[in-house]
Amino acid sequence: MAKPSDTIPLLAPHEGEPYLLTPGPLTTAYSVKQAMLRDWGSWDDDFRQTTKHIRAELLAMVDDVDQQYDCVPMQGSGTFAVEAMLGSLLPRDAKALVLANGAYGLRTAKTLEYLGRSHVVLDKGDYLPPRGDEVTKWLDADPDITHVIAIHCETSSGILNPIEEVSRATYAAGRKLLIDSMSAFGAIPLSSQSIQYEAIVSSANKCIEGVPGFGFVIAKKSALQAAKGCSHSLSLDLHDQWTTMEKTGQWRFTPPTHTVTAFAEALRQHREEGGVEARGSRYRANRDALVVGMRKLGFETLLHDRWLSPIIVTFFNPAHPNFDFNVFYELMKSKGFIIYPGKLTVVDSFRIGCIGQLDVHVMQQVVTAAGAALDEMGVDTAVAPIAAYNEREKLTAE
Ligand SMILES: *Cc1c(COP(=O)(O)O)cnc(C)c1O
Repeated sequence: MAKPSDTIPLLAPHEGEPYLLTPGPLTTAYSVKQAMLRDWGSWDDDFRQTTKHIRAELLAMVDDVDQQYDCVPMQGSGTFAVEAMLGSLLPRDAKALVLANGAYGLRTAKTLEYLGRSHVVLDKGDYLPPRGDEVTKWLDADPDITHVIAIHCETSSGILNPIEEVSRATYAAGRKLLIDSMSAFGAIPLSSQSIQYEAIVSSANKCIEGVPGFGFVIAKKSALQAAKGCSHSLSLDLHDQWTTMEKTGQWRFTPPTHTVTAFAEALRQHREEGGVEARGSRYRANRDALVVGMRKLGFETLLHDRWLSPIIVTFFNPAHPNFDFNVFYELMKSKGFIIYPGKLTVVDSFRIGCIGQLDVHVMQQVVTAAGAALDEMGVDTAVAPIAAYNEREKLTAE
């Protein structure tokens, strides 16, 4: 009998599982799931080698040719790794400028409140990216600001923020940049050779297409060294995790062993696919197929094309009185697709992710399913309420 991996096409989830059109956890390859069918001793040399290997592979992804950076994995979901980065790499007397345009930027500000770190927030609402000239203005006006914290892809709307521009403005003003690249890393280039930053953070279950369980910070070794004694938390102390890993090859506390071995397989596939470039191209093709198809049905995107990321797309709920998101969700699920509710503050919306083991054929099926779901609900057009357009135009008039 053939092994399951020989009989199941690469891009299909296992028998009857729905596709997850969500920004992580997402649909993973069968071989990634299969990699978890074994138990590992966390102190054993085989597992230590796996940890060493994934750290090196992640560093290679930022082109760390001068060996300036190191990669520190951290147990927990992405937010744990963000908090570890903020609590460890921001000195206690630092002052941060948080660039927010959605839920994740605001979560960073909230984390800084918990940590008691001084900060100010440049809040752009849901529709617009923070721009380089605004960063320059804020930094010029406040010499106490030491660090800028940016969200690479703001997953709550799907906006891809102009990170090069932000980095240039930050370093031109002599400040340091920390990047939450959670949902972009692995699909959008973030080479340390072309973009300056102190550290970036991402996690196992986004564009690398692993399963949830840990995040990782890629930081300048100088920043990691300076982080000694900085953290508010033992379990989230990046400096302590780093030095222990360097010394012993081990994670300080129980690592998510199955997640780590699955991640090693996900990285192998990432490399085989063609790395960051190829993964980004597949996601862009997914997004384009999705947006073109959904617009044909009358759906409109929250964002103008220019800021649409290849990661996740927000659509306005249709104005039609028969449209009900919960019914739409269940109909989509019954057709094999799990979609995602919106996370906007002003208008009703939903989101469809483009990341994970998905290709344009899957995205075309998603559009077909959405069309059929509308028919079943008795919605003859997916056009958004006039208020959604007005709100968008008002806020994006420049
Ligand atoms: C997913 C994500 C996080 C982390 O979320 P968790 O639910 O803790 O994994 C943080 N920032 C961004 C931009 C994200 O997309």
